[in-house]
Amino acid sequence: MDLFEYQARDMFEKHGVPVLGGVVATTPEEARAAAEKLGGGTVVVKAQVKTGGRGKAGGVKLAHSPAEAAEKAGEILGMDIKGHAVHRVMVAQGARIAEEFYFSVLLDRANRNYLAMCSVEGGMEIEQLAVERPEALARVAVDPIVGIDAAKAAEIVETAKFPAALQADVAAVIQQLWTVFTAEDATLVEVNPLVRTEDGAIVALDGKVTLDDNASEVRHPDHEALEDKASSDPLEAKAKAHGLNYVKLDGEVGIIGNGAGLVMSTLDVVAYAGEEHGGVKPANFLDIGGGANAQVMAAGLDVILNDPQVKSVFVNVFGGITACDEVAKGIVGALEILGDEASKPLVVRLDGNNVELGRTILREANHPLVTLAETMDGGADKAAELAHAASVGVAAPAAV
Ligand code: GDP
Ligand code: MN
Repeated sequence: MDLFEYQARDMFEKHGVPVLGGVVATTPEEARAAAEKLGGGTVVVKAQVKTGGRGKAGGVKLAHSPAEAAEKAGEILGMDIKGHAVHRVMVAQGARIAEEFYFSVLLDRANRNYLAMCSVEGGMEIEQLAVERPEALARVAVDPIVGIDAAKAAEIVETAKFPAALQADVAAVIQQLWTVFTAEDATLVEVNPLVRTEDGAIVALDGKVTLDDNASEVRHPDHEALEDKASSDPLEAKAKAHGLNYVKLDGEVGIIGNGAGLVMSTLDVVAYAGEEHGGVKPANFLDIGGGANAQVMAAGLDVILNDPQVKSVFVNVFGGITACDEVAKGIVGALEILGDEASKPLVVRLDGNNVELGRTILREANHPLVTLAETMDGGADKAAELAHAASVGVAAPAAV
């Protein structure tokens, strides 16, 4: 989960990282009140959207009075920044910036390690700096066992060529940012810019934090409150409420399978088959896991059939602990539960434990929307064909 800047700011503050005051506002009036609360002096009004480059897009504006803060908030609220609508702003205490630096620490999956990146040239887009002047961006590997201790922090600021007079202060902030990273189970903590103010303080002026969702439920129950429920995809929210492992994708063929590996390969096979059928693609990832009973199957189908982009559904299940006859009963039961809501063709491929019995159950139920497929490739092809036919509005040939 990515956090909004104001959430990252609060988290930084909680762990002792120096930040400036900041208050969220959703209307110009609230922005005026926020500016007053911050002392009535100069503030910065900042769009709260989960994308970078807000400054360049006009989403970060200075205001010298509460009245001006209200005016700037009025300009920023409702803006569209790279496809993200601005629903709130953060009114932040203005900083008198002397210099802008960059620091981040992230999970480096490729190297099974953590990586710290640091530069005395912050503020600008770091991707651009990394491409144009890679020597200006220090990259320092961080041993997960040792972490960023005093020695590692000193190495980071030295490698980034901070002037000697600043090294100790910047290193101290870097160690506090590492505390945020580990204490909150983040996979990314990025500060751009980390600034030196005119009175010599080192302050994190813009924070980006990505939390590891795998750690949320058990280790950080408080993280749930950080979720942006309003803008999360309604289908993903519904799936989550059912405890389903669902990811919305862009295509037309709904996918249900058991086991993440099988579902992943089903996505590949459907995408490949789609090339022969007007370029249709998988509409989602959905792993119903081991217990594919009627309720779970109904919940999964309910989510997928409510995706208006879905034109056909491919159910690809390998019977293991839950045998194919249970899965077949699950599908029949799910179609009963859903009734008229089940309105799109279903291609079902079963294999594994009790496969014959499973197929017999589906054959005998003889549901008009269900087509049985013998193989995974055959099922993918049929589902892609049906989705394409529905997209262009012609009936597909009946036989597999
Ligand atoms: P981003 O463009 O989305 O990364 O948003 P930032 O929060 O990094 O803001 C962009 C730029 O606005 C910064 O690099 C600063 O130059 C400037 N800025 C942000 N906050 C302040 C502030 O308090 N005072 C001043 N003078 N400039 C600021
Ligand atoms: Mn920034």
